[in-house]
Amino acid sequence: MAAPARKKVQALRVSGYVRGPCAACAKEERALVMFDDYGWGVECLACGHTERVDDVEYVEEGDITY
Ligand SMILES: [Zn+2]
Repeated sequence: MAAPARKKVQALRVSGYVRGPCAACAKEERALVMFDDYGWGVECLACGHTERVDDVEYVEEGDITY
């Protein structure tokens, strides 16, 4: 059985916002959340969709280009 690819997101170190569009509504208004089992995830602030991620890479605010 092949191991599933690890899902990685980039999060802003200061604000906690996460880069990239929501899988459900495609808006870029996602924030980092932690689940009850301490797993990381992202939550869309626009539609409430959440999904788990395996790795979080913190980036500085100035590195973001939209
Ligand atoms: Zn959404």
